[in-house]
Amino acid sequence: MTKTFAIANQKGGVGKTTTSVNLAASLATFNKRILLVDMDPQGNATMGCGINKNLLAISVLDVLTGDTVTEKALHRCESGAFDVLPANGDLTAAEVELLKLPSRESRLRHALARVKQNYDYIIVDCPPSLSLLTVNSLVACDGVIIPMQCEYYALEGLSALVGTIGKIGQFLNPGLQVQGILRTMYDPRNSLTNEVTGQLRQHFGDRVYRIAIPRNVRLAEAPSYGQPALVYDKHSKGALAYLGLAGEIIRREKAARAQTGTTG
Ligand code: ADP
Ligand code: MG
Repeated sequence: MTKTFAIANQKGGVGKTTTSVNLAASLATFNKRILLVDMDPQGNATMGCGINKNLLAISVLDVLTGDTVTEKALHRCESGAFDVLPANGDLTAAEVELLKLPSRESRLRHALARVKQNYDYIIVDCPPSLSLLTVNSLVACDGVIIPMQCEYYALEGLSALVGTIGKIGQFLNPGLQVQGILRTMYDPRNSLTNEVTGQLRQHFGDRVYRIAIPRNVRLAEAPSYGQPALVYDKHSKGALAYLGLAGEIIRREKAARAQTGTTG
């Protein structure tokens, strides 16, 4: 059964795109079929997969507006390991375009339904806002992964996001929940880091991933080569951390399935 995860946090620069691209690449090494959806007009995830956002004839915008079918907008990432539904600056128009259309909050959900059966995991990289694009991502997903830096103000922003997830779970996507909290750019030597980790565990329990992603320059360099860290430098700490995250996600999934007694 396909699992769709939105990578969301309305704060910019917390590692959403880095997580989306590297988690997609890491899950693919476990022989999972992956689709990465770029829902940010900045198109960073698109570029980070080696796809030139400036040369896109068709993008996720055309899929959202219904101008094209999802299959026609799909690309293969440069390394060939997973599929990408790319975005570029045109997507800024979506905020206005979608207002004119019916079911404006669930356009992505419907678009993904057409191709879902071809994938084990769909990863949606959200923009740094609680906009209609993020709402579409949250309505389309089964769970939300929240990347965050362990700093003081990070927790404040989190309650707005958790509130939005709750409302969407109430009205638009029944049962939607925080799937996991991912600590990014992690530095265990910083005492605030440990304090914030403690608070996160208090609120979210074992939904805080055991793996934390360390600050690692390879993760920052890889996008300029259009590559996930696993391709750019597979032995780097960053690449290995995301592999660990993929393993943790797959194990959790298996455990959850065993508990509910479902297979697939
Ligand atoms: P967001 O998508 O939330 O805006 P990004 O993934 O683009 O965040 O990350 C913001 C910046 O931080 C980028 O320049 C990225 O390369 C860098 N970065 C992200 N995660 C790490 C990390 N673990 N170590 C070092 N740099 C990172
Ligand atoms: Mg981003």
